[in-house]
Amino acid sequence: MEKLLFATNNTHKLAEVRQILQERCALISLAEAGVQSNPVADAPTLEGNALIKVRDAHRLSQLPTIADDTGLEVEALDGAPGVYSARFAGEHATFEENVALLLERLQGVPAPRRACFRTVIALIDEYGTHFFEGAVNGEITLERSGDHGFGYDPVFRPEGCQQTFAELSSEEKNAMSHRGRAVQRLARYLHALPLDE
Ligand code: IMP
Repeated sequence: MEKLLFATNNTHKLAEVRQILQERCALISLAEAGVQSNPVADAPTLEGNALIKVRDAHRLSQLPTIADDTGLEVEALDGAPGVYSARFAGEHATFEENVALLLERLQGVPAPRRACFRTVIALIDEYGTHFFEGAVNGEITLERSGDHGFGYDPVFRPEGCQQTFAELSSEEKNAMSHRGRAVQRLARYLHALPLDE
């Protein structure tokens, strides 16, 4: 089975994507490939950032490579933080600081505080560069709940669900999440999953 490099330093993302692709694809991490890649992803779009990440890791590894970029778009904030989700509270902000700022900005905004998570995965393989997108609508909760997942998971409740992403198991999150949906599309392209899904 051909190796596929996932250009991320985020172990949560790696675990999520591995769980979806499982043994159908030999997904390897940057560390496993012996590649050090951490480019500045400062493009104005998710596609642009995914491209910066995938190009750097592919150049260094010469392996088929994927990278993802994700943004949380909040309706009451005119789509912010969007492409700036990782550095919403500052250049080196922690997940906790970003969540705290989001809740602060939404103080006084009545429910439903609509939001959308969007992920773009870029793939470079022998045929060229390809993009796969996934999105999920939901709401930003008033308070944090749950301790699974990462990032904004404790305050994002997907549509039709009573719990936040952080209260769900990784299987449950993957089945409906932005990244899960983008990976399903990638998997179909890779012929790693049946076409009837
Ligand atoms: P990036 O794709 O790593 O640039 O993600 C941008 C920001 O969104 C980071 O602060 C991540 O923590 C956050 N983020 C990305 N994916 C998820 C997710 O699945 N759940 C919650 N937060 C996420």
